[in-house]
Amino acid sequence: MHECGNDAATGGYNFSAGPAMLPRTVMRRIRDEFLDYHGIGTSIIEVSHKSAVFRDVLATAVGLFRDVTGLPDNYQVLFVHGGARMQCSAVPLNLIARSATRKSGYVETGFFARQAQQEGARYGTATVVASSADTGFDRIPVLPAGSCTPDAAYLHLTSNNTVYGTRWHTFPANGTVPVVVDATSDILSRRWDYSQFGIVYAGFQKNLGPASLALVVIRDDLLGHALPETPLLLNYEVYTKSQSLHNTPNTFAIYVMTLMLTWIQEQGGLDAVEAVNNAKAQLLYRELDCSDFYLPTAHRDHRSITNITFRLRDESRTAEFVERSAAQGLLALGGHHTVGGIRASIYNGMPLAGVQSLVRFMREFECDSV
Ligand SMILES: *Cc1c(COP(=O)(O)O)cnc(C)c1O
Repeated sequence: MHECGNDAATGGYNFSAGPAMLPRTVMRRIRDEFLDYHGIGTSIIEVSHKSAVFRDVLATAVGLFRDVTGLPDNYQVLFVHGGARMQCSAVPLNLIARSATRKSGYVETGFFARQAQQEGARYGTATVVASSADTGFDRIPVLPAGSCTPDAAYLHLTSNNTVYGTRWHTFPANGTVPVVVDATSDILSRRWDYSQFGIVYAGFQKNLGPASLALVVIRDDLLGHALPETPLLLNYEVYTKSQSLHNTPNTFAIYVMTLMLTWIQEQGGLDAVEAVNNAKAQLLYRELDCSDFYLPTAHRDHRSITNITFRLRDESRTAEFVERSAAQGLLALGGHHTVGGIRASIYNGMPLAGVQSLVRFMREFECDSV
C-alpha cells in the first residue's frame, strides 16, 4: 500500500456505494472469532438460529440498536428478508389497507425513490406528491402544503439519495399520515428522532453489515393491517410475533450488525460518529467548492454526507480519474451507471484518513492536468 495507506493487510480505501466498506476493527473481529465464536467450538454461522447462542446475538442487536438510536419503546426492530427493495413491496402490502381508497404518497427524489413509487403503484394509487426530476434530482423538492391527503395510508420518502448525493436535513411533519423512510444509505450515519416516522427501513449492505436483510423499524400501531394476500414472510406482524425467527434469517448479517453497533458505541456513540461523518463530508465539499476542475452535482443546501457526487469539468477524463485513483488504492469511485461522473461513498466504515487520501489524489490529478 502507499504512504496514505490504510493497512497493508487489508488493502485500500473502498468508496463503493454498497456493499460498502466496514470499519477495519469490525472486519478484524469477524476474522478473529469466525472459526470459534466466544469459545463455543463452532462458528456463529454454524449454530441454529433458534439456539440460545444466536438468540442472544439477536437480542443484543436489537438492544444495541435501541440504545444507540434512543428508539422509543413503541417501535419494533425487525430483520426482514430481501433487502431494501423488498420493503418497497412489503410497505404497501402491510399499510395500504389503512386507506379505504388505497392511496399513498411518494416523494420522488431519485433512483430508488422512483422504484419505490413504481412498486407502490401496484397496490393502489401511489401519487408522486413532489419531485425534483425537473432539476435532475439535484435537490429535495418542497412539499406543497396538504400534498398528502389525510386519507392516504402513508407518505414514502428516501432520507438519503445514494445515486444523486442529496439528503433530507429535516423531515416533513405529516399530520396523521405515517411517514415511511427508506434510510438504506444513511441509517446510523446521523441521529434522528424516530418518533417522527411510522416505518424506517434500510438494506444492510451500506452501514449495517453484509447484503441480504433489511432492518425494519415500525411503530406498533402500524402492525396488523396487512392485506390478506400478503406473503407470510413479508408480513411485519409475523416478524414481530416470531422476533424475526419465523424462518431462518441471515444469522451472519445480524451478528455483524452487533459488531457495527458496538463499534459505534466505542467511537462515543452516534453523535460522535455523526461528527466524524460531517467532518469527512465537509473536507470533500470544501475541496470541490474551491476548485473549477471538479463540479459538485448536488444543490448546496441538500448535500448528502454519505454519498458525495461530482463531475470533472472535462468529462472525457472521468475514466482516467477512476482508473488512476484505483491504482492508488482508492477504489470504486465511478458514479452510478445511470448518471456517470464520480461518487465517493463514505459511510461509517470510511475513516477520515481515507477521505484525506482522496483529497490528496484529487489535487494531484488536477495539478497533473495543467
Ligand atoms: C442501495 C439502496 C437500495 C437498494 O437496496 P437493496 O438492499 O439492494 O434492495 C434501496 N434504497 C436506497 C436508498 C439505497 O441506497
